[in-house]
Amino acid sequence: MKKIAVLGSTGSIGTQTLDVVDKEGDIEVLALTAHSNIELLERQIRKYRPRTVSVNLPEKAAELKVRVADTDTKVLSGPEGVVECAAMPGVDMVVTAIVGIAGLDATLAAIEAGKDIALANKETLVTAGDIVMPLSKECGVGIVPVDSEHSAIFQSISNQKRFLKRIIITASGGPFFGMKREELADKTRFDALKHPNWTMGAKITIDSATLVNKGLEIIEAKHLFGLDVDRITPVVHRESIIHSMVEFSDGSVIGQLGVPDMRLPIAYALTYPMRKAPVSEPLDLVKVGKLTFYDIDNETFPAVELAKKAAKIGGTMPAVLNGANEEAVAAFLRDGCKFIEITELIGRAMEAHRPVLSPTVDDIKAADAEAREFVRASLNK
Ligand code: NDP
Ligand code: MG
Repeated sequence: MKKIAVLGSTGSIGTQTLDVVDKEGDIEVLALTAHSNIELLERQIRKYRPRTVSVNLPEKAAELKVRVADTDTKVLSGPEGVVECAAMPGVDMVVTAIVGIAGLDATLAAIEAGKDIALANKETLVTAGDIVMPLSKECGVGIVPVDSEHSAIFQSISNQKRFLKRIIITASGGPFFGMKREELADKTRFDALKHPNWTMGAKITIDSATLVNKGLEIIEAKHLFGLDVDRITPVVHRESIIHSMVEFSDGSVIGQLGVPDMRLPIAYALTYPMRKAPVSEPLDLVKVGKLTFYDIDNETFPAVELAKKAAKIGGTMPAVLNGANEEAVAAFLRDGCKFIEITELIGRAMEAHRPVLSPTVDDIKAADAEAREFVRASLNK
């Protein structure tokens, strides 16, 4: 039995992880965490009987404690509770499915406690990849990506890393593919939340519409696979069937294909280095018919260029890109910011920031706070 903790178990990746657990049958769930959704967490407690859970909001944790008093599950609260779940004795692998930089401390705690990581929380690597990756090596911890593109790259590289020339990372293009910047001016959160191929949490769905998600993924790939961002080429692939590719020194290109279903990369991460029975529909290429590819329209969607710039500057700059984005997306989701303002605010927050080049975790958190404050102040003007 593999023993896991799922951080962010009530979200899109968290619930799909538990779906994979149901299908695999030989995985035991020892800890679960949520921000505030105690209704779903209670159902998960009754089904999986974890030893410990944690709820971020203390008042919700107190309410849950009463509701599950008849079970053996211990209820913790706050960020310290999540950290305790992440480092819990007996856990082999931690699935990091919290959204945003909020997942950073728990990921670091899991690595320090020697837990293998199934990494969904890309913001952790974007903001602190230079700390997370060396720490994982030092602690002898394996990081298996859950993000579909990175899972594809990981699988395609196999044991041929020394021949790797470049990564070709695919992007669906999102709901506004083919539009010009003028057409994006009046887009609402309802338009932006309609993703063509994937059903995901609200934040990453908006990131897919702005293409910030692809920018974050390029930085994530840089850290995971140790490649300069200029050797990571994004390409729009509308059908989301090829999840990404790698090009080797001899010109050979290897990719991983599958239906767009996150349970596939989640199952891969949970069972790696094994492969088990399928958890999703089989791929029918004849039904798909054709696969199409386009360049990124960097004028309409400046996010990829901004991310590459942040990665090249390095230090605290990617944390500013990420923090400004998190704050702007949260504002957009409550109608407090226009769609095109999201990337404008990221660019301006980056311009205003003086990066710390070899940052500590505290420097990264300070840069995150500075970027959020910059966005709030700009939106309140
Ligand atoms: P969701 O918004 O669906 O879920 C987020 C989870 O984190 C929920 O369990 C939520 O709890 C919890 N959470 C939210 N805020 C906090 C906080 N401040 N502290 C602790 N816990 C918190 O997100 P997704 O599942 O879509 O995404 C999770 C991560 O995976 C992101 O980093 C995303 O980029 C990445 N990812 C997601 C993919 C997808 O298909 N969804 C694909 C590839 C990567 P509650 O429910 O109580 O609010
Ligand atoms: Mg992805």
